[in-house]
Amino acid sequence: MPNQQLIPKEVMQTLTYVLHNSKYYKKSLSGINFKQEDLSFHEWSNIPFTLKDDIAKNNLDFLSVPMTEIADIVTTSGTMGDPVTVYLSRSDLKRLALNERDSLSLAGVREGDLVQLMTTIDRQFMAGIAYYLGVQELKAGIIRIGPGLPELQWSSIINNKPRVLIAVPSFILILIDFAKKHGINLHDTSVESIVCIGESIRDDAFHLNVLGKRITNDWDVNLFSTYACTEMATAFTECHAQQGCHLNEKLLFLEVVDEHGNEVGDGEEGEIVITTIATTGTPLLRYKTGDIAKRFMQKCSCGNSAPRLGPIVGRKNQMIKYKGTTIFPQTLFDIFDNIEEVACYKIIISKDNFQNDQITILLQKEILDTNIYKIIIEKCQSRLKVIPIFTFNELEIIQAQVYKKNLRKPEKIVFI
Ligand SMILES: [Zn+2]
Repeated sequence: MPNQQLIPKEVMQTLTYVLHNSKYYKKSLSGINFKQEDLSFHEWSNIPFTLKDDIAKNNLDFLSVPMTEIADIVTTSGTMGDPVTVYLSRSDLKRLALNERDSLSLAGVREGDLVQLMTTIDRQFMAGIAYYLGVQELKAGIIRIGPGLPELQWSSIINNKPRVLIAVPSFILILIDFAKKHGINLHDTSVESIVCIGESIRDDAFHLNVLGKRITNDWDVNLFSTYACTEMATAFTECHAQQGCHLNEKLLFLEVVDEHGNEVGDGEEGEIVITTIATTGTPLLRYKTGDIAKRFMQKCSCGNSAPRLGPIVGRKNQMIKYKGTTIFPQTLFDIFDNIEEVACYKIIISKDNFQNDQITILLQKEILDTNIYKIIIEKCQSRLKVIPIFTFNELEIIQAQVYKKNLRKPEKIVFI
């Protein structure tokens, strides 16, 4: 971004708004003199980043409207660190609906479509309510089955004939498995596309990764990637060109920075930093999400010129330092998702006595003493250069540890 270029006026409105309404920013920005109406990118880059920890420690100071104007209170999942609370005003709910309308439209959802929702809508989960509101805004219909329950999901697919599913992709593998075991013909369903949340389905070159391929090898459906986090209250979504997830420029200002906080170039990897636009309840300035991805600036073949994000490479705080190498969880997922005999697995990252990361993989006990186990060890050796610790248990026990009833997403990895 040229340093002298001016910051968009909608972003300047966020700055003005937080300086008047957010206790946190009034204090943290008190030493900076914002006299001019416009800021260049260079001047903007002097504004300090907001970290997740800043919100966790000063959560109520980010609330920028009286509590009586709050329409909905959501929390982050808290898979890493303390959960944070995001307060949505009535206008934020409207913004969330427009965000999801735009997001689902990019993924090809149209007026009159029927969408089956396979995530929770309760437990203060923002995405669930966003999907509901967005589907209404699109004048489409929704079937709120919620997470899990493959039998109920299939009975609704067969009876209600939704064209679109919204789901965590690894759950789709369970649906496929259920269909195979119960004589459901995957070549004759109403489902044409799946809006995927929470997990990457593409590799660096935008081809389907092993998880994506495992789904489409069995089921002829079109998969769409999305990326979002609760704090931004906005989704990045793939269009039909499937060359990265588009930014919604009306709702979010995007920066991608290196470890020194400097903007990275086109196609380079960095941490995603966002500033909310038109948010009144919990507006955020230069919020460091901790998520790492590549940003692409060229106009997409669909005609949309908004920047696109590549697949999330990992979270900054999920980097595993292992015997001199750095590993992101996705590399581990790719290994185990790619082995059909591995029905379910759980990765446990712990510290050894020397504070080094230690990787333990929990696998179903049938794998021990088979050729598959040898293949797994070879794959770990070639991809990771090291061999993790393996432990074995009953499949049902592992599944219960991954698909926990009280969690919104499958917990394939845990840091302890
Ligand atoms: Zn596009």
